[in-house]
Amino acid sequence: MGVDRQVRIADKMLGAGLPPLVQTMYDQALPHDQDELDELVRRIGSLNAMGCDIIRFSYPSREFHDPLAFLAAKSPIPVVADIHFDHALALDALQAGVHKIRINPGNIGARWKVDEILASAKDHNAAIRIGLNSGSLPKGEGEPAVLMSNTALTYLNWFEQAGFTNTVVSLKASDEMVTVEANRRFAAQSGYPLHLGVTEAGSVVSSVVRSTWALGQLLSEGIGSTLRISITGPIETEVQAAVELLRTLGLRKKGIRIVSCPRCGRASFDSQGFLASVERELLTIDKDLTVAIMGCQVNGPGEAKSADIAITGIGNAIFLYEGGKLVRKVGADEAKTALLEAVRNAK
Ligand code: SF4
Repeated sequence: MGVDRQVRIADKMLGAGLPPLVQTMYDQALPHDQDELDELVRRIGSLNAMGCDIIRFSYPSREFHDPLAFLAAKSPIPVVADIHFDHALALDALQAGVHKIRINPGNIGARWKVDEILASAKDHNAAIRIGLNSGSLPKGEGEPAVLMSNTALTYLNWFEQAGFTNTVVSLKASDEMVTVEANRRFAAQSGYPLHLGVTEAGSVVSSVVRSTWALGQLLSEGIGSTLRISITGPIETEVQAAVELLRTLGLRKKGIRIVSCPRCGRASFDSQGFLASVERELLTIDKDLTVAIMGCQVNGPGEAKSADIAITGIGNAIFLYEGGKLVRKVGADEAKTALLEAVRNAK
């Protein structure tokens, strides 16, 4: 039936008619130290500049109430608390000011506990994600994809009976085929927005391939209002992968698109090392540009002509192009500064 609702998460809206939002999940326990919290806020700012719209934190104990409240107040993007088993923790996270919580109603226990969470979320203008993973479904008959979709519809019914509709649903499996099937089934029966992801998808290569295969199909079919690419690796890489997927599908326009040569035996310039040294900084620049990083004269000048900004390294000489025209020649030790400066100053 297609998504026909919008959900508010602090100042962000997701759902019907809106481009998909990118999420990640912080991969460590919340710090208590104020300097570390300030540093985390800066890191969230940098993730936001890379294209991350929402960040989630595990909330396993009230011991983390103060750091969570601090982040909910200071984070430049909405904060989600991930809660399992204990409904009192969900109430506590909402009281701390988070903008959304993720729960699996099935592991919260009695229905009255879920109802208390819904009442509190309504009072705090927060959203809720019903997050179902294939590994933690209630016992039932049928294929995992059918069971996941039907379970989500049952929980949504509970939520609606309590008058709560600011809800997003996720149906994640470590099997990408089950993930695709479950989300297709759900989208055919409900207009609630879906948060997409393949769970426990592995390291960078494994996760990006599997997630792109699954989420690419769903997003191409108009299914999915937000996504996380789960990677056993840096959260910045999760954001980069999700943004790149959306851009490849034409669902996100802004940002730096990097074209770089893989490097081969002809290279006299270390394009791999250079890209590794500059990539993260490049991706936080709020411009809509194609940047080429090339390793020799074979394809370098050609790619440089079709990029907005480019460098081609030939030995220790780095040629900088802007708008397809050669504008400067610098030494290898100045190349990073010259490239970042050119990208930051580009119109
Ligand atoms: S641009 Fe040059 S160094 Fe890079 S892959 Fe092509 S031929 Fe090799």
